[in-house]
Amino acid sequence: MERVHELPYLEITPFTADHCLKCNVCTQACPVAAVTPLFPGPKTVGPQAQRFRDPDLPSPDRSLEYCSSCGICTLVCPHGVRVMEINTQAKARKVESEGLPLRNWVLGRNAWWGVLGTPFAPILNWLFDFKPFRLGLEKTMGMSRRAAFPKWAGYTFRGWWRRRKSKLRLPADAPTVVYYYGCSTNAYEPAIGKLAVKVLEHNGFRVVVPEQGCCGLPMQSNGDFKGARRFARKNITALADYAQRGIPIVGTSGSCIMALKSDYEHILGLEDDATRALAAGVWDISEFLAMLHAQGKLKTDFKPLQGVSGTIPYHAPCQLKAHGMGRPALDVLELIPGLRAVEIDADCCGIAGTYGYKAEKRQIAEDVGKHLFERVRQSGAPLAVCDTETCRWHIAQMTGVRVVHPIQLIAQSYGITTQGD
Ligand code: SF4
Ligand code: SF4
Repeated sequence: MERVHELPYLEITPFTADHCLKCNVCTQACPVAAVTPLFPGPKTVGPQAQRFRDPDLPSPDRSLEYCSSCGICTLVCPHGVRVMEINTQAKARKVESEGLPLRNWVLGRNAWWGVLGTPFAPILNWLFDFKPFRLGLEKTMGMSRRAAFPKWAGYTFRGWWRRRKSKLRLPADAPTVVYYYGCSTNAYEPAIGKLAVKVLEHNGFRVVVPEQGCCGLPMQSNGDFKGARRFARKNITALADYAQRGIPIVGTSGSCIMALKSDYEHILGLEDDATRALAAGVWDISEFLAMLHAQGKLKTDFKPLQGVSGTIPYHAPCQLKAHGMGRPALDVLELIPGLRAVEIDADCCGIAGTYGYKAEKRQIAEDVGKHLFERVRQSGAPLAVCDTETCRWHIAQMTGVRVVHPIQLIAQSYGITTQGD
């Protein structure tokens, strides 16, 4: 299937510190350096420090911890220096030599907590709303009491899929697409997965959902490359074969999909044919629908949305911008009659996956997103749109505005609901 955009991340040389000309463009763009003196900025911590790092010695640079791995520096560098990748590799070396703090180990294993907590959803949801419990988490584990913890749905997407699969009667000749749901959709937002499956089926696809694991990004961004590589290999084994047979793999989390598209090779260093095949075969769901539309294959029986019309704000998460695919969600949303989604002129919401869940980083996460939060509030819209889960939860918490995934509006406009199979 032809992409609307090129795949810039497939062509990039991973470690290019020597190409840095010290122009400071990255430092000017870095959202963290802009709000805290604790982080001297990507040029200093990235390519500059890299020249003095001995691969056999731990990184001496403590401020590296404050890099949120948002990737904006890599995106803006005019000389192709992979600054975020350099920083993430250096973090991993630090973890190798100093060990992984318990809090970061816990945050990296969200996939487990999502599934293990599902049978206890009502108790856990109450507990995570209980202020003394949050305070205890902050004091004992270093997790911010102010962070937007997700709610367990009480059932998993995987469980719903298993029950549903046994009842499905699909046309044998329909084109096949694989759905990659990610751990957040599995345990916290299974409705997004259900809608994604139904939208793909509405467009004539036979959806398959092979066994799969966490993308590994929460571990990777905490420097736990051992854990991240284990999950990455599981996904490569489960999914690369589909990609090699030309079957698209479509996902609803902009950050998970970026891990499969680029990070496995360019950060985790998994350089083999299967990893590259997977990278080339993975699609963000809006990118996939926009591609179908460009080919005249997308169903356009969109109806105006009940209760939502006019202009709504859209935030493209940093991880999504790194795909280098434009803003496909906007391209698809503009097909909905009476709706106009407009991108907010703000770079980062500040949460950066697990970063804003850490007590010592929480204020930075809130300060980074200030401009974005103001724009969402000022819009006066009943909701905002964003492609990545932790960004959605963070923006919703900081603004009081409901934040949805694009697929929720697309499905609603098709008349598709989460009800029934
Ligand atoms: S990493 Fe790139 S943007 Fe940053 S100082 Fe070097 S050349 Fe400039
Ligand atoms: S990844 Fe983000 S926080 Fe880290 S140095 Fe780059 S721009 Fe700054």
